[in-house]
Amino acid sequence: MNQITSACVLSEAEHHLLSLAANETDTAIIITDHLGRTLYLNDGFTRMLGYTLADMQGKVPSAVVSGLHTNATALASVREHVTSRESFRTEILIYDRRGKPLWIAAVINVVKNDEGECTRMVGVWTDITNTKMHEVLQHKALHAIAREAPIVDVMQLICLEVERIAPEVTVSIRRIDPSNRLWTVGAPSLPAHYVRAMDGITLDCGIEGSEVPGLEGQLVVFGERSATSFWGERTELAQACGLAMCWWRPIRSGDGQTLGTLAFYYRERHHPDNLHRRLADVSVNLCSLAMEREASKKKIRRLAYFDSLTGLPNRSSLVAQTDTLLVDAARMERPLAVLFLDLDRFKQVNDSFGHPAGDMLLCEVAKRLKKCLGEKDIAGRLSGDEFVVVLTSCNADDAVARCETIMATIREPVILGSMSVTPTASVGIALFPQHGDSIGTLLPHADMAMYRAKAAGRHRYSIFDPDLNRAAQENLKLERALREALQSDQLQLHYQPQVRLEDGGIHGVEALARWSHPEFGMVPPQRFVALAEEGGMIAELDRWVLRTACRQLSEWRRLAIAIPHVSVNISPTTFSDQALPGLIAQTLADHGLRASDLMLEVTEGVLLNTATDGFANLNSVHDQGIGLSIDDFGTGYSSLSYLHRMPVNELKLDKSFVHELESNESARTLAKAVMSIGASLGLSTIAEGVETDAQRQILTRHGCKVAQGYLFARPMSATTLVAWLNHWKPAAGSSFHVGSS
Ligand code: C2E
Ligand code: CA
Ligand code: CA
Repeated sequence: MNQITSACVLSEAEHHLLSLAANETDTAIIITDHLGRTLYLNDGFTRMLGYTLADMQGKVPSAVVSGLHTNATALASVREHVTSRESFRTEILIYDRRGKPLWIAAVINVVKNDEGECTRMVGVWTDITNTKMHEVLQHKALHAIAREAPIVDVMQLICLEVERIAPEVTVSIRRIDPSNRLWTVGAPSLPAHYVRAMDGITLDCGIEGSEVPGLEGQLVVFGERSATSFWGERTELAQACGLAMCWWRPIRSGDGQTLGTLAFYYRERHHPDNLHRRLADVSVNLCSLAMEREASKKKIRRLAYFDSLTGLPNRSSLVAQTDTLLVDAARMERPLAVLFLDLDRFKQVNDSFGHPAGDMLLCEVAKRLKKCLGEKDIAGRLSGDEFVVVLTSCNADDAVARCETIMATIREPVILGSMSVTPTASVGIALFPQHGDSIGTLLPHADMAMYRAKAAGRHRYSIFDPDLNRAAQENLKLERALREALQSDQLQLHYQPQVRLEDGGIHGVEALARWSHPEFGMVPPQRFVALAEEGGMIAELDRWVLRTACRQLSEWRRLAIAIPHVSVNISPTTFSDQALPGLIAQTLADHGLRASDLMLEVTEGVLLNTATDGFANLNSVHDQGIGLSIDDFGTGYSSLSYLHRMPVNELKLDKSFVHELESNESARTLAKAVMSIGASLGLSTIAEGVETDAQRQILTRHGCKVAQGYLFARPMSATTLVAWLNHWKPAAGSSFHVGSS
């Protein structure tokens, strides 16, 4: 240390300590004069770079240690700082005495005298090669990941890069499969037969090894007993491959799941040193990043092609796959069947058990469908509760047989929470080649056939019928449109007043459904009511009418518009549903109405159908105090004898008789009979379809109390009805004028 000209005099002891501090460190310290020429270097400098003071004395350090790959700009900047005598710090690649490259971080401080002139420069250099190498490893791997290189390539790159940095290490990277088995994804420098032997071992039978304190992961020394217990003969194989030991660490995902392992193999017994640990840290992170990214890429692919709920192919992938199957089928002249499945009453499951239960049911059905598939068949989910199954090498007879099996498989009960539900499906079948040669025609044809199966009463199948005439197909289209209309509240209610013949006062109004479709125009109620019956939507339609009519009446009440009651048509199917009385009571309550505010119009069929809940409902509804009216009276069985046993309040004389009152004697007789029977049973009678004043007069003469018809008003929207009421000022006993229509 005598090269330093000290400003102060140090004691022997102080001198010794200072020398220890300067020399017993891994950091290289170098002192130059104001021109940058070397005056002193410590032992650390010699250890790091191999140069002694003798080598460096009087020389400018940057000139000695720079070399082939030293960054020229960085070097120029160093020289500039030295020339201008400024302190600075830098990171730069230099070369040691033997020409080995190393990265250093250098801090250069300027020492000034009392006049502020630079006298010395002190440089402190730290070897950052390891850190730099991590950076390079990280940079290369991230770059590969970012440009979507295959996972195997990324893993290979990590292995090779680590091995380049630490030549004493041989790396393997393995990925874990769902059954906990490990499969190699990168081990470029391990012998292939060893890699093969290691593939498929399970992780959770614990790759035995000794836990090394402070070392995450396991250390396995081949040949030692602890290793042999699990690695068995593989340890011998490892030894035969020249491997002495192995240190492995788990690769974990962000949420702590084990994704695989990273193993460092050593040819010599070599305890993992700091560099290895840091390399392992970096590599494990990179591997986990690459593996997670791979998994999310797969997931995105799955989302694009598969239905996320059931895992079945979605519409687009189903269409693509079927197209391929059809090409094969055409080439090999083999038949193929497309089955269109629609679950029956799925909406009800959703409505009564909730959507999670509905989802569970869909998943279960998907699982059952998969069980029914042959090797080349496919099943997919189109949307909601619609599934498609494509059966290869399948003719009409096979299709029917397979379809029956599928329907039977679906029909097994499913437990949803505490309830058991038995799903059923309606299925339509379209066949290749007879019914189409592309999925674009086969699918709609199968759909149409499914619709027929539904209309025929559900839990059935039907094969597409090319002869099904256009009218029938139109019908199907219309039925579908009605379903949509019901779901999206596109129907309307009109109201037709019922007028007291005696004084012209309002007896009540009948609610009549109206449907105006953007494409089909006004669809007559007979038509869509029949469609609703066929398509199993009638209960929904009637419930909608009931709700809407009650809401309207309570609105009128709020506006103090005097309408005594509203009559609602209830189809026989709906009427025999045992839930009906409860539903009506609830609807009335919801709108703050009383039982007497509502009248139900049912046809005679309901009275005859005493075997079903219809009969019980008659009493139940009557007990609630809700009025019952027999619609179209006289056209049905007209067995007057049952009437007295039934809790009925009102008869509606069918308009066909009313229309013939003037021309037909027997119509007049029947009308008279109905009126007198009604009177004797204490029922009021309403004549419907009254169009002329002559009809009104005949009816009045025969004791008819209430009439409804175009003579007074057509069915009108709620607002038009209010306007009509404002102008409706009948004089008692006078003849009625024709109401606005
Ligand atoms: P309906 O219950 O017998 O209804 C009376 C029908 O006669 C109504 O036909 C009404 O517009 C019509 N009408 C009223 N006054 C006259 C008249 O002076 N002359 C003639 N020629 N006809 C008159 P609409 O509205 O076409 O309904 C036809 C049938 O459709 C109804 O017959 C009923 O069976 C059914 N319907 C209508 N709305 C509903 C509903 O909301 N639910 C159910 N289930 N069925 C309904
Ligand atoms: Ca009616
Ligand atoms: Ca009627």
